[in-house]
Amino acid sequence: MRVTCPHCGSKAIITSRENVADNVSELYCSCSNTKECGATFVASLAFKHYLNPPRGDAAQLAAALLSNLPREKQLELIGL
Ligand SMILES: [Zn+2]
Repeated sequence: MRVTCPHCGSKAIITSRENVADNVSELYCSCSNTKECGATFVASLAFKHYLNPPRGDAAQLAAALLSNLPREKQLELIGL
């Protein structure tokens, strides 16, 4: 992940991170352009939403759907 300085646009270094809520962190950053800028600032990082569910969730969903089907249909779908 790349963070840029909001003042000069140079690459910034994440010096520390504080979790402020579930899936929300504050990133303490320092501008790498120390000669001309040297700003330090805080940026927020937050989880927004999944594009694809985690594999475990997909497997659990499939298992739950299969368990609602008759035994013969379950075997047919899993190729047995
Ligand atoms: Zn800067």
